[in-house]
Amino acid sequence: MAVKIRNPHTHSSTYPDSYYVASANNLHDYPQLTEHLRADVCIVGGGFSGINTALELADRGYQVIVLEAFKVGWGASGRNGGQMIRGITHDAERFKDQIGSDGVKEVSRMGLEAVDIVRERIAKFDIQCDLKLGFADLAHKPRDIADLEADKAWLDSIGYQHETRLISKADIANVVGSDSYSGALIDMGSGHLHPLNLVTAEARAASAAGVQIFEYSAVESMEYGEPCVIRTAKGQVTADKLILCANAYVEGLDSTLEKTVLPCGSYIIATEQLPEDLWQKILPMDLAVCDMRIALNYYRLSADKRLLFGGRCNYNGRDPKDIEASMRPKMEAVFPFLKNTKVDFKWGGMIGIGANRMPQIGRLRPNVYYTQAYCGHGVNTTHLAARVLAEAIHAESHRIDVFEKIKHFKFPGGPLLRSPLLAIGMSWYQLKDMF
Ligand SMILES: Cc1cc2nc3c(=O)[nH]c(=O)nc-3n(C[C@H](O)[C@H](O)[C@H](O)COP(=O)(O)OP(=O)(O)OC[C@H]3O[C@@H](n4cnc5c(N)ncnc54)[C@H](O)[C@@H]3O)c2cc1C
Repeated sequence: MAVKIRNPHTHSSTYPDSYYVASANNLHDYPQLTEHLRADVCIVGGGFSGINTALELADRGYQVIVLEAFKVGWGASGRNGGQMIRGITHDAERFKDQIGSDGVKEVSRMGLEAVDIVRERIAKFDIQCDLKLGFADLAHKPRDIADLEADKAWLDSIGYQHETRLISKADIANVVGSDSYSGALIDMGSGHLHPLNLVTAEARAASAAGVQIFEYSAVESMEYGEPCVIRTAKGQVTADKLILCANAYVEGLDSTLEKTVLPCGSYIIATEQLPEDLWQKILPMDLAVCDMRIALNYYRLSADKRLLFGGRCNYNGRDPKDIEASMRPKMEAVFPFLKNTKVDFKWGGMIGIGANRMPQIGRLRPNVYYTQAYCGHGVNTTHLAARVLAEAIHAESHRIDVFEKIKHFKFPGGPLLRSPLLAIGMSWYQLKDMF
């Protein structure tokens, strides 16, 4: 078993050449595992999920080791759109028959808590990650507007503490300088941030709390037992508990988990720094925004006022040959006046998709835990999952039970069949979007 390097842009063994790496303020090298060590808990994966679970467990007095195949934040956590959006799934009511009304309420409540945890973390460790509050969903069709109205009514009904506002087509230029949209819902409780600076600072905090982090320490084999034995090329960890946090990069690590998550390539271009009149026209309120299509575009301004424009354009398991050529037409369709604007950075990563779009958090065995499949909504959900896992291990709460009651579809076949399946599924939804 080994970490597979398949796609040149998304799977090289160093950080991608992204805007985030170019503007990182906290990169740090952790050692490679070369010894046999003992721990209460071993965590595989050094992204938001793994690092935050380690942090939560260290706070509760556990001795924790994190094994990362490459660098902290190498995966989706250090590459994403940086959009921190409330909620952990779409329409929790869909799961009522599996988790009951109380479960639905609990999932909805956790979706709000998830954002609070990120904000608390940033405040507690004084993390410099360009946090900016404010997000908007952008509607294309009348049906989208009805969905946004229902969302707003629901937020009002639960006493959501942050300002929310519906924007009509007549006022859309106050939110986004494009005539592609027919309305928006602003949520000042969500927002955007520099994800690599967040995850690397969280790793520093975990390390200061006693967590041992090892980089370039890919797990090559695991024995599930009491204790578990986890082996890398040059070392080994024996641990009472094991937590698998590899998300879209899980392939080859555990054969059960890889069946319920499909890796989907998502790509981002970052323009050159924009003059004030231009960025004020594009996003005058400096909100993060997402459109409401299945194959959605998401974009925002960076702290130094570049447009970071992202979208999902690849479902077949292979990176586009030229990310800029693939993403630029999407950006120019929304903002035709950016035709002559230079793109300084382009990169991609893998999003972990589950069929029902509910994060998968649970136990494979009494002492082997996992979390994955955040469906492009992981900046906040990872932080919530970390807390739920730590509470379960520390016997503080039973919130993990809600997630364990939910059934997850196993995509048939190996990765070679799963990727084409997703490609077919997404093409169907893209077709529906067009009409
Ligand atoms: C391009 C892109 C844009 C996105 N935009 C957003 C957004 O704007 N908002 C949002 O909320 N979410 C977004 N997401 C999703 C979000 O980034 C993820 O859900 C989240 O970062 C998942 O964190 P994680 O720690 O679970 O996984 P990852 O950050 O992917 O970390 C998993 C880690 O596991 C390691 N690993 C795998 N196998 C092994 C092994 N055998 N041994 C050791 N280590 C191993 C990998 O090296 C990797 O570093 C985006 C994702 C991508 C790719």
